[in-house]
This record gives sequence, structure tokens and C-alpha cells, in this order.
Amino acid sequence: MNQIKLFSPATIANVSCGFDVLGLCLESVGDEMTITKTAQPGIRITEIVGTDLPLEAEKNVAGVAALALLAHLQPDCGFEIRIVKNIKAGSGIGSSAASAAGAVFGINQLLGAPLTNKELVHFAIQGEKLASGSAHADNVAPALLGGFTLVRSYEPLDIITIPSPNELYVTVIHPHIELKTKDARSVLKENIPLKKATIQCGNLGGLISGLYTGDYGLIGRSLHDELVEPIRSILIPQFDELKAAAKTAGALGGGISGSGPSVFALSKGKETAAKAADAMSAIMLQTSVPFDVHVSPINPTGIKIL
Ligand code: ADP
Repeated sequence: MNQIKLFSPATIANVSCGFDVLGLCLESVGDEMTITKTAQPGIRITEIVGTDLPLEAEKNVAGVAALALLAHLQPDCGFEIRIVKNIKAGSGIGSSAASAAGAVFGINQLLGAPLTNKELVHFAIQGEKLASGSAHADNVAPALLGGFTLVRSYEPLDIITIPSPNELYVTVIHPHIELKTKDARSVLKENIPLKKATIQCGNLGGLISGLYTGDYGLIGRSLHDELVEPIRSILIPQFDELKAAAKTAGALGGGISGSGPSVFALSKGKETAAKAADAMSAIMLQTSVPFDVHVSPINPTGIKIL
């Protein structure tokens, strides 16, 4: 096999109380990537369709992640990467992660899969470091492994896949305003009061437990971010209205997707998720800000070979 074509999915990181540790994988939005083995060593990004991103490997997250993997595997060949970008960069639904994860997944497959998808996370996060200044794994891990993933530890990297109930659906709305991950990080506080940490731990434990047991009520009660959302949501106009509208429409709860500006809601059933999408769209239509909205089940497998 000399060429591979992939669907590399969008993902939601910072799932509410799971800041920097809990992510989930979407099914209905993603990039397409074609990776080709070449005799010439190194990485060349030949084309990016749909958006204006750098083609130099060292400036593109796909290239940076791929080069990190090549430095480790030392193959006697190189690779060309072509990306059809359907996930807008800076949207907060893992645009950079889709490219980084797709690149390392495709190269690993073309080399006969010497590494597991879990092992590939380490290389994909080198790309994330370029995009946001922090090597966070809560987008690339669900992209590579599917479902919900928990980063139990960064040093050493320890990633756990969390099962979720079949009827759990995601609504995610992307207001077309620019909010850089670096800027969204700069507003965060270094230290947190013990009382707030305790509330966050309780909710994260509750959310994980609700996902395992399919207890939608518990999932809803636990979708509360005590630490980051109150600070970051100020950067997202209409955040409170969007979240309230989704809940009034029947969603279990929601929060900021990644570092924003996208806002997500989780619902039991596709119908309720679609109602949440309508309610959130109605809020956006009262503004002049363009937006797009997606309804998706949880993608259980992550990146797919097409
Ligand atoms: P998202 O959460 O949607 O991934 P980020 O702000 O974390 O958004 O990352 C997007 C940043 O990474 C942008 O500055 C973009 O220029 C840069 N970037 C470099 N290569 C890529 C790529 N292949 N795909 C997406 N973004 C890229």
C-alpha cells in the first residue's frame, strides 16, 4: 500500500468539567486527507483545499506531527500529504488536531502499523504544541481512538477510552468570530481555590460515571464547569443565551467546545439534539454573526480509512 485516504474527524475538547483532560469524537464533521509514500525522504504538504494554511511542514501541524513520528520510526522513505479542510481553523472543534492525528495515523498505516493508535497520541500532540503553545491531548486522543477519552496523566501519558450510551448526541454551533486558543488560554488563572477544585472533581467523577452507566440524568447534573467556563465564556458573545436555549430545548447540558468560540450541548436522542440546534440557531439569527451548526452522534472509532 503506497497511498491512504482518510476521514479525520472533528472533536470537542475541554468537555465541561473535563478541562484539558476529557474529549469526544464527532461523526458528521471532519477533514479528508490523502497520504502518499514517496522515495524522497521527509514530509511535503502538497495541497490544502478549503482554507489558507501554510504548506511548509514545519509551520503546519500535520507536518510537525508527521516529522516527530518520522524522527522516531526512521523509515527509508518520505510522505506527501494532501488535506481537504472541512473543519475551519480556530473553530474550537479540533481543526489542528484532525490534521495532526490524520498525518500520524496515515503514515503509521503506510508503514505497516508499527505503533498503536494510543502510542500515536504522543506524536500528534507535537502538532498541537505548534497550534496552541500547549501539547494538549484531549482533541488528538478522541480523533485517534474515538468515543470519549480521558487523559488521566500527561507525564507519563496515560489515556483511557470511556464508553458512552448509544443515544447520546452532540450539538455544536460555531459562531464565525475569531478566538485564538492562545488568547483563550491567557485569560485563565494559574491557581484555583480548593473549594472550586472539589466541585470540579465531583462533577468530573459524576460525568464519567454517567457515561459508563448510561445515566443521562447524572450526565446532565455533572455538565458543570466551575473553573474555566465562567472566565472564558466572557470571550464568547451570546454564550449564556446559547447554553440556556439548548437546555430549554431539552439538552442535558453543554459548555464551550475546546477553547471556543464553538458552543456544544449533549442530548439524549437525535431529535432533542436537533431541537437544541434550532434553539441555538435562533439565538445566533438575532445577531449579524454568521454561524454553522452540526448535530452528530458520538463517533465510536475515530479516524476512518476511506
Ligand atoms: P482548533 O481548536 O480549531 O484546532 P486552534 O486555534 O487550536 O483551533 O488551531 C488552529 C491554529 O493552528 C491556527 O492558527 C492555524 O493557522 C494553525 N494550523 C497550522 N496547521 C494547521 C492545520 N493543518 N489545520 C488547522 N490549523 C492549522
